[in-house]
Amino acid sequence: MAGIYIHVPFCKQACSYCDFYFVTRDQERNHYVEALITQINHYADTFYSAETIKTVYIGGGTPSLLSISQLKKIYRAVQRVFNLDLEEFTLEMNPDDVEPEYLRGLMSLGVNRCSMGVQSFDEDLLKFMNRSHTADQAVRAMELLGASGFDIYTVDLIYGNPGQSLNSLNTDLKSFLAFDPPHISAYSLTVEPRTRLGKMYENGKLKPLSDEKTAEHFDLVSETLTESGMNHYEVSNFAKPGKEAVHNTRYWNHENYLGLGPGAHSFWWNEDQKTAIRWLNRPDLRKYLSGNFEHAEAENLRLYELAEERLMLGLRTSNGISTDELEKKYEYQVDQHQLNYIYHQSRSGKLTYDEGLLRLTREGLKVADAIILDLISLKKPDAPR
Ligand code: SF4
Repeated sequence: MAGIYIHVPFCKQACSYCDFYFVTRDQERNHYVEALITQINHYADTFYSAETIKTVYIGGGTPSLLSISQLKKIYRAVQRVFNLDLEEFTLEMNPDDVEPEYLRGLMSLGVNRCSMGVQSFDEDLLKFMNRSHTADQAVRAMELLGASGFDIYTVDLIYGNPGQSLNSLNTDLKSFLAFDPPHISAYSLTVEPRTRLGKMYENGKLKPLSDEKTAEHFDLVSETLTESGMNHYEVSNFAKPGKEAVHNTRYWNHENYLGLGPGAHSFWWNEDQKTAIRWLNRPDLRKYLSGNFEHAEAENLRLYELAEERLMLGLRTSNGISTDELEKKYEYQVDQHQLNYIYHQSRSGKLTYDEGLLRLTREGLKVADAIILDLISLKKPDAPR
């Protein structure tokens, strides 16, 4: 069983922190839809089309820049080519595109989960991030989404902005919770090199928040959202019970997914299950529109690389990772050096290791990347892989 990810590479403007693939030209959307349908058709009668598809995720970029009739054409092509038995159909949207009729159109299409990039209700922060919407538009979109009849939706929040105080974050969190959303994805702002923030940082015009302050922000986000009744089920994700994101959870569990559109990634296990391939569709809209669907990169992942990745993804979730799964599925055995480290970290309250299940505590989640890196690099190269 697998998922499909469709990348819609259009945005109104470049958010200052974003390094996803997108263009801000708006004349090529019809042409893109045609090219996408051609790419979808290329998968007809292949082993990809024989697989049962459980989730479809339309992300970007800004998928809500496409009209309902464009989305309908895309979805019809997906239905024609693939074997769908959908549990979840998600569409990402921006607040400034949300209208009642648009939401009704999405529902009639079968979308059952919306993911909206609110990021903040603070006008200054929205401007700093160069978001295309205002705080008023965010409020209106949340009201519309809440009244729309969508049972499940996600809203994105960004914390850890340079200069952002805990008070300001607290106000933002309260604003989000006032709408009682079923799911919140909360991301710490990162300064990526090829972005406006990256350039400001290079020129000495931006000082990112310190690690200590970012950890305080993380604590505040985690405490406030869990106290409101949400489960902190992944480092960046909070959900009311039963409202977890199925598509993303499947990424973390190493399920197959096929990426369509320029800049989309795919991940697929080989038949023998001993390796997997990850590839990236060339992030080049012009080539894509000319019918060139070449991959920019393809990487064969060996079993031990997959094991390390699964260890990392699993530890970022509240389910953790079982050493039994690592052994059976990935032939990866946790060695004595790693066990010593696990023992040490569990004594300091950063993780638990119970009946073969490794899980990070909230303290551990704060430094998840460092713990995961330590754990992986402690394994001796001559140990069985
Ligand atoms: S709308 Fe989303 S994809 Fe587009 S620039 Fe902003 S963050 Fe990036």
